[in-house]
Amino acid sequence: MSTHTQQTKKRRPYLFICILILLIALACIFVQRFAGTDIYNKASLPSIDFGNENEADGEWCLILVNKWHPLESDNKIDLTELSNGQCVDSRIYPQLQKMFDDMRDDGVYPVVASGYRTEQEQQQIYDESMAEYIEKGYSESDAKTETERWVAIPGTSEHQLGLGVDINADGINSYGYEVYNWLAQNAYRYGFIYRYPENKVTITGIANEPWHYRYVGVNAATEIYKRGICLEEYLGETN
Ligand SMILES: [Zn+2]
Repeated sequence: MSTHTQQTKKRRPYLFICILILLIALACIFVQRFAGTDIYNKASLPSIDFGNENEADGEWCLILVNKWHPLESDNKIDLTELSNGQCVDSRIYPQLQKMFDDMRDDGVYPVVASGYRTEQEQQQIYDESMAEYIEKGYSESDAKTETERWVAIPGTSEHQLGLGVDINADGINSYGYEVYNWLAQNAYRYGFIYRYPENKVTITGIANEPWHYRYVGVNAATEIYKRGICLEEYLGETN
């Protein structure tokens, strides 16, 4: 009896250490999974019903904006701000949030690197790119050509619509290629398309951008994905 009591007493410190290790491990998993990766301030936003996403889709999300189709000047957008300060058109927020939640469930951690931009912000990005090429020794016209391969001319960017988002890895838990691969395979299910693929550069006018996704609604995105076409082809607006 006394031997048994002694053994029980001896085991207790080990039991305590085991529980402590378990708690630390659980805390580590929790921190790695959630800390710093949640781009949305969910607490401040209303709860969202994901069941009716298709009903909300319509003409508004099929607007074509490219260098041949500039934005209308009276473009008014209701924006939702993400917790990292980036904004998107409020109508695409529920699907964007759902896509990010599902991506994280698959162990891939994205961030919206760039969402809505004003004309001035787009102009600034354009000017900075021009300055960079000129500093590298490019002529004005070569700098313009190179810049416009990647940066839309102000007034022709989908970022000004609030429907285009640049999605990258969080830089802590995932690499860029993991995010791009996940998006290329799954984004259409949430209504987003890989907007500037390599094989459509002559039609879109923009170089391959695996990070740039455009909301067009689930129906259009599914057709675009399945047929391997781009938005211009879907809308019959190729030049
Ligand atoms: Zn973009």
